[in-house]
Formats: sequence, C-alpha cells, structure tokens
Amino acid sequence: MTRSSGPNRREVLGGLGAPLVIGLGTAVAWPAPRAFAETDPFTLGVASGDPATDGFVIWTRLAPDPLAPDGGLPAIPFDVEWQVSRSRDMAQVERRGTAVATPDYAHSVHVEVEGLQPGRTYFYRFRAGAALSTVGRVKTLPAAGAARSVRFASAGCQHYEDGWFTAWRRLAEDDPDFVIHYGDYIYEGNARRADQNATARPVVRELPGLPRRCRTLADFRNRYSLYKLDPDLQFAHASLAFVPSFDDHEVEDGWAAFSSFRPRTSPADLKELRAAGFQAWYEHSPVRKAQRPQGASVLAYRGFRIGGLANILVLDTRQYRSPQICGGVWAACPEASDPGRTMLGPEQERWVDAQLGAGGEPWTVLAQQVPFGRLVRKGALEKQESIMDHWDGAEAARRRLLDVASRASSGRLIVLSGDAHQNRALELRLDPRQETSRLLGAEFVATSIASGGDGIDQARWFGRLEALNPHLKYMNQQRGYVLHSISRERWRTDFRVVEQVSVKDLPIRTAVSFRVDARTCELTRS
Ligand code: FE
Ligand code: CA
Repeated sequence: MTRSSGPNRREVLGGLGAPLVIGLGTAVAWPAPRAFAETDPFTLGVASGDPATDGFVIWTRLAPDPLAPDGGLPAIPFDVEWQVSRSRDMAQVERRGTAVATPDYAHSVHVEVEGLQPGRTYFYRFRAGAALSTVGRVKTLPAAGAARSVRFASAGCQHYEDGWFTAWRRLAEDDPDFVIHYGDYIYEGNARRADQNATARPVVRELPGLPRRCRTLADFRNRYSLYKLDPDLQFAHASLAFVPSFDDHEVEDGWAAFSSFRPRTSPADLKELRAAGFQAWYEHSPVRKAQRPQGASVLAYRGFRIGGLANILVLDTRQYRSPQICGGVWAACPEASDPGRTMLGPEQERWVDAQLGAGGEPWTVLAQQVPFGRLVRKGALEKQESIMDHWDGAEAARRRLLDVASRASSGRLIVLSGDAHQNRALELRLDPRQETSRLLGAEFVATSIASGGDGIDQARWFGRLEALNPHLKYMNQQRGYVLHSISRERWRTDFRVVEQVSVKDLPIRTAVSFRVDARTCELTRS
C-alpha cells in the first residue's frame, strides 16, 4: 500500500476559521465536527498492548499524511477521544476519556485503560474531530487461578522488502490471547532495491521512497510509518494485544549497549541512534508510560503474570550487554567464557533471579530476543563455533541464570527467542554440554514473519547441526510464528509456517508441534 500523496497542511486545517491561540501544553479545542472532516488521521491504524487483568494500553497516532515528517500535522496538540465497550458496535461504553496527542511524541496517544473485568474481550475506538478510527479488539488477562489454559503467540523479524506480512494476518486469525513481539519490528538499513536483485533473497516489495539508513528521529518515524501502513500488520494490531520489545534493528544492526558493529559509529553516535530509535519505538508501540524513553535509555524489561499459569518475564538483551566479541558472528571465541560477560546487566539479572524464585506458577517464561541454548557447528580446523551475538557469546551469564532456575522453587523454565530467522525447539539442561545433565525446561525459537524471504523447511545442513547438538530437537527455516497453549500440566507449542512470503495471502499450516510435560520436563514431538 503506497500513500505518496497525502493532504497538505492547509487541507488538514481547512475549515478552521479563526486563527488558533495555543498555550503551551494545552490541547487545542477543535471546532470538533469540522476538523478531519476531509482527511483520515487514523492512517496508521489502532493497537492495543501490555494487557493486565483489569485493562490494557490502547494506541493510535494522528497522521493524515503518514510519510510526511510531521505526519501532515502542525506542531500543536490535538484532543483524541477514546471509548471502550464490550461489543463491536460500541453500543454500551464501559470506559471513555480524552487523551492529548502532542507533537513531541509524533501525535501518538497511549491510553492505559483500567477498571475492567479479567479474562474478557473488549473493543475500543478513537475519535479526532469528525474522524472515527476503526474498532480494535483486545482481551484482558485472566485472573490468577481462574484460567485452565492460555494461548499466546511469539513473533518478530518483519523485514518489509523480504516478503508479505501474511503471517501477521494468519496469527490474528488464530486468535491467541496476545502476542509477544521479540523485536526487529523495523529494519533500519538502507532500503533494498528491486534492481539489486542478484541474491537468493529477492526484494518482494520496495519500501516506498527508498529511504536511507535511519539516522535521525525523522528517519525512524518514517520507517515505522512505512511498516505500519501494511494492511496485514494493521489487521493484527487491531485484533489482539501486543507485548512489544525490541532487538537490534530498532536501533542499529548488532548494537550492544553503547558499542556498535559499524566501525564508523562511535559510542556518541550510538547514543544518539538509541535515543532516536527508542523514541520512535515508543511512539509507535502500545506500551505504558513506564516504557517512555529517557534520552538514550528505556525501561523495556517487565513482567506479566498470566492467570496463575505463567510468569512471563520480557527481557532486554541489548541495552545492558557486554560488547560484541569476535564480530558477533559464528566463531570459536575464547572470550565467550569470560565470567565478566553479561547479556542482561547486573540490575536486570537480579530482577530475573528474584522473579525465578517468586512465582507460584507452573511455568516461568523468559521472553527475549536472541537464542539462549547452546548451539555449535564445526568450523575451520574442526573447531566448534557458536554465534557470538547470542547467549553463546556470554556462557557464564547463561550458566548463572540456569543455576538460579535449577535452585528456584518456581516452575519449569521456558525460553522464547527470535532473531535467528529459524524455528527451533531445544531442551534446556543445567550444563548444556552434558546430555545427562538435569533437564530444566525448553526453548522455542520463533522464525521471522518475513525476514530472509521464503526459506525452506529442512535443509541438509540442519542434520549436521542436530548431530552436534543432541539437545536440538527441531529446526525449520520457513516464515511464520509460534503458538503456545499452556495449562498447569502441559505446555504445547505449534510452529506455524507459510510456504512462501514472496506470494501474497497464502494459507498457514502447522509444521510440527511440541509438548513439555510439567512433571517430567520432557520435550516431545507430537
Ligand atoms: Fe531479524
Ligand atoms: Ca535481530
């Protein structure tokens, strides 16, 4: 969907008679019915996120001309009314209010709705002037002890040029209670051009305007707008709550704290990129005010207790980690075993340790960005190599976490990851080098929504990896998402894939399903 010609500022303001007099920080009192009578300010859709038992966040952004630097609006605040109802026709309004969309947050609104019933479906919409948004749908979390089972998805890595976002539509049709987005919501690099199509990763569609690599806040805002115009992604956002996090591409490929992969990016440059990237991430994500960035920092790790069944810890493996070693790629890197290396930083690690011991839930879930379990391949000179951008690049940090999990009175450990653009299922053992070491849980790596293009089901080299990694039970390199259905006794994960993302609107299928038994901790294919 391309929107090259939006309304200009005069058209947006058309119909306003008298000049506006605006005090700092006050909302403009629009002559309500006439504003946005001719233009749609809701081009980027609506979204909900970070569900709780009594509410959730609802989000929109006013942008009548979404690819213009200011979304096509003047630098003044606007009133946005919101409503929440039990029915799609919005007949009875349960909650309502007015939020102020301000230019310093790109005219986005983040409303934290409270006081609702647990385990219920709600609908919401926004109004700005004469314009009504589409109606979004969202579920509150079940009350503690009230849920027999819960279904949610994990997904991420949506490279625009690599493929259609069919998987987002299919995920919404599967109707899970919410989806955890592990990151790579945007890709920040120079737009890929169709005429550079010499590779095995064809450009399925170009980013309109072929934007350059994101360097400024305006670049990042434009990139989010481009992505958010995708109708499949908008459909998913309007259908269910997202639990957003971010990985590297929301800032820069492979960043680690304040160090960059790119020799030309200094720590000071990265600080600016982080500030711009986090700002745009917040502006376009249905998250709470607690996740509003402070300059180059943002509090992105947070927990969700799900109906007495799961304690989900959303982690941040980028902001506080040690610098990349051996280029962050496949390497036999001696520094990987340095006990001083960290993925979470001391403060977040303490929080995770406390949470691992705190929950009475049968499942403790680490929802995070990069693969956690050990994975090796035979490299040059028969040396065993791992990917240094993943937890294999911080072995002691992984061991510390597994040690705490093994002592904790809380339930089984389930790690959800992404970034690899592959589906994987792994057993998690206290000592990943020992096949007989104690079983603590399982890891499910979610493939990409589109990144990497069509991909293949089973490559021949997967067999070699499985031989070297006996705890690795499954690999697949197609596109899609993973669906988790959990009860007290059993965890079930379905790997959902589309055959191609280079062709629009294909169906989804379950490539394989796995179960984890809460009592024995065994991971079995079913
Ligand atoms: Fe990715
Ligand atoms: Ca990534």
